[in-house]
Amino acid sequence: MVKFIPNEDGFYGEFGGAFIPEILKENIQELKDSYSDIIDSKDFKEEYLNLLQDYCGRPTPLYYAERLSEKYNTNVFLKREDLNHTGAHKINNTIGQILLARKLGKKRIIAETGAGQHGVATATVCARFGMECTVHMGAKDIERQAPNVGRMKLLGANVIAAISGSQTLKDACNEAINDWVNSSDDTFYILGSVVGPHPYPDMVAKFQSIISYEIAEQFKEKTGKDSPDNIIACIGGGSNATGAFYHFINDNSVNLYGAEAAGMGIDTDKHAASLSKGEIGILHASRSYILMDKEGNVKDSYSISSGLDYPGIGPLIAHLYKSKRINCVAVTDNQALKAADNLMKTEGIIPAVESSHALAVLDEIKFDKNETVVVNVSGRGDKDLETYLNRLN
Ligand SMILES: *Cc1c(COP(=O)(O)O)cnc(C)c1O
Repeated sequence: MVKFIPNEDGFYGEFGGAFIPEILKENIQELKDSYSDIIDSKDFKEEYLNLLQDYCGRPTPLYYAERLSEKYNTNVFLKREDLNHTGAHKINNTIGQILLARKLGKKRIIAETGAGQHGVATATVCARFGMECTVHMGAKDIERQAPNVGRMKLLGANVIAAISGSQTLKDACNEAINDWVNSSDDTFYILGSVVGPHPYPDMVAKFQSIISYEIAEQFKEKTGKDSPDNIIACIGGGSNATGAFYHFINDNSVNLYGAEAAGMGIDTDKHAASLSKGEIGILHASRSYILMDKEGNVKDSYSISSGLDYPGIGPLIAHLYKSKRINCVAVTDNQALKAADNLMKTEGIIPAVESSHALAVLDEIKFDKNETVVVNVSGRGDKDLETYLNRLN
């Protein structure tokens, strides 16, 4: 049995913890003391599940992809997180966290964002609950992701440019943490993945676990079997993967595959492959695998998909990888693009370029004719049209 609930200090094996400045200790302690009780309470669950159903459109379908299955000579099911409100799995988490923030009496929300997906999901729930919203975003990402910046503004969020470092996601995280340090205790930080200090990784994992609970139910209904043979998900910070795996972590009959971004190749220095190429260190208040140089400085990551372009990885994923519970497949930009094209032409679905990394595993691993494979399609490709048009023509 692999442990997937952290210990009291937030460690999964040697990974995780809460390496935070003194000034945040009280805030984190408040969250740590209350989050489980609140999330597990009947009231909270009811409101959360109602919103997921009527506001986000859950349950998302588990779709048997007939033509894709034919092509790969196996049985492929797609978990359609792309059909969620705002276009990805991120809303499962932001709805949960804003309900929690409200229960704790917080008035102001801050968040970090890379591609803008988590920023949009946060701005959305802030509008829905009438809360003030500040989103930190790398200056370079603000330029690259104009449509999402526009969405956040229309939804009433205040977008602040992070102008330090490489001006991308990791710098936005630093700025969000700074903001939190300097803001009064009426501020709640909505974190976008299973990263950061305890209890965030556990909290976000619990909110995203709705994905695998639905997979279990839907798979049983469709096939009569309790669990699929394989589940594949892409890994940036690890939240959609954790959500897709959660219910099956201790079911060893299910093979779990995480696709990380190999960018231009893991033997170049343009990738975001923190499992294949990372060292153990501390980033954003948690111990995990991180891309570092020889001096121990965090390196800039690279991926065609901004959602996977992060030099760290969540501590639970690190632990599952070290315990050999999950298999890691490194997928390059080009492999992901090819898989995206393939899904578009065989199934009429335009996936997020992040999700295309998961789909590319079907090209790398040969599954048997009788096996079943669930691929988590974490988001839709509207935001990636330009990338696809530039690269697939
Ligand atoms: C943000 C994002 C990801 C990566 O984040 P995880 O926390 O690893 O899930 C993957 N896919 C999509 C569509 C995203 O928006």
